[in-house]
Amino acid sequence: MSRTYRGWLTLGLVAVWVTAASAQKPKATSAPAQPAATAQDQNITAALNEAYAKFKGLQEGKNADYIPALAKVDPNIFGIALVTTDGKVYTAGDIASEVSIQSISKVFTMAKVMEEQGPEAIEKTIGVDATGMRFNSIVSIEFSQKTLGGPEMNSLVNPGAIATTSMVAGGTRDAVWNSILGFYSDFAGRPLSVNQEVFKSEAETNQRNQAIGALMYAYGYIKAKPAQATDIYTEQCSVNVNARDLAMMAATLAAGGKNPATGKQVMAAKNVPYVLAVMATAGLYDDSGKWLYHTGLPAKSGVGGGIIAVAPGKFGIAVISPPLDDAGNSVRAQRAIREIVARLHANPYEVAAR
Ligand code: GLN
Repeated sequence: MSRTYRGWLTLGLVAVWVTAASAQKPKATSAPAQPAATAQDQNITAALNEAYAKFKGLQEGKNADYIPALAKVDPNIFGIALVTTDGKVYTAGDIASEVSIQSISKVFTMAKVMEEQGPEAIEKTIGVDATGMRFNSIVSIEFSQKTLGGPEMNSLVNPGAIATTSMVAGGTRDAVWNSILGFYSDFAGRPLSVNQEVFKSEAETNQRNQAIGALMYAYGYIKAKPAQATDIYTEQCSVNVNARDLAMMAATLAAGGKNPATGKQVMAAKNVPYVLAVMATAGLYDDSGKWLYHTGLPAKSGVGGGIIAVAPGKFGIAVISPPLDDAGNSVRAQRAIREIVARLHANPYEVAAR
């Protein structure tokens, strides 16, 4: 061995030893040491990172453009967040960018009405069955009314959602709105706000939803002020959220209605199973069956590009990625959540033989 080589080797070993020693030595001024990553932490982090890397380059789908402001949103936004029921937050990709919550809002307005009037009110007034039709189907209203002869819709498609918004208590528009926004904020664990550009853009172009509101009023599902209900519904769809907010909202449902970060009991634990049941049946519109087939989890999508899914008792997960498939569901969000759920064995129907 030459002298020079031996010298480098010694130097190298000393360098390794010094680095290792300084990494181990706690610095006097440093904050309390982070708890070491557990096997669960490593497993979840790896699942999120791998799904992110796998689907980052996926170029399928297209931003919603029937609401003009949504066509302008950056299609490359891609963020994943998972929050456990004990409040641990795991993320991959872009969790800073906000998109409008859109139809995911429908879950929380439905929960609000259950809180105020009980789950029976939703079942009797709107129905809790999948329509099997698109989210803004007018035929589904006619079919429910004329063929099925009663409330055979649900609060997660536009007709049922607008009617559900009309049921929220409050003497004035402001009172109703503040109660809805406050409720969503409690789920997210921070004050949420409206994306005014999206709200204005949709309010100017939502004639179809106005027609749906009017028809729901004509058939008695909405008792008063259908135009106001559609307007508030449009505003609730324009609330801005990032992937972490959505995951926290989902985790609050996973934790029996208690926000795992703030500790606030946001809704009654006894109402949560009713919310999750409607999500399982109708959360991804007419593709809800396909979704449940592959994940087993109640979920909800929005045309802003977000999807939330709830693993009851375990975690809430959310992905944001604006390009949508033909049913109006985010392509990357569906793929990423499916992958992560499989990897974490979070499908509640998956049971080892016993
Ligand atoms: N605001 C949208 C609409 O009513 C929400 C639809 C959605 O996210 N699927 O058309």
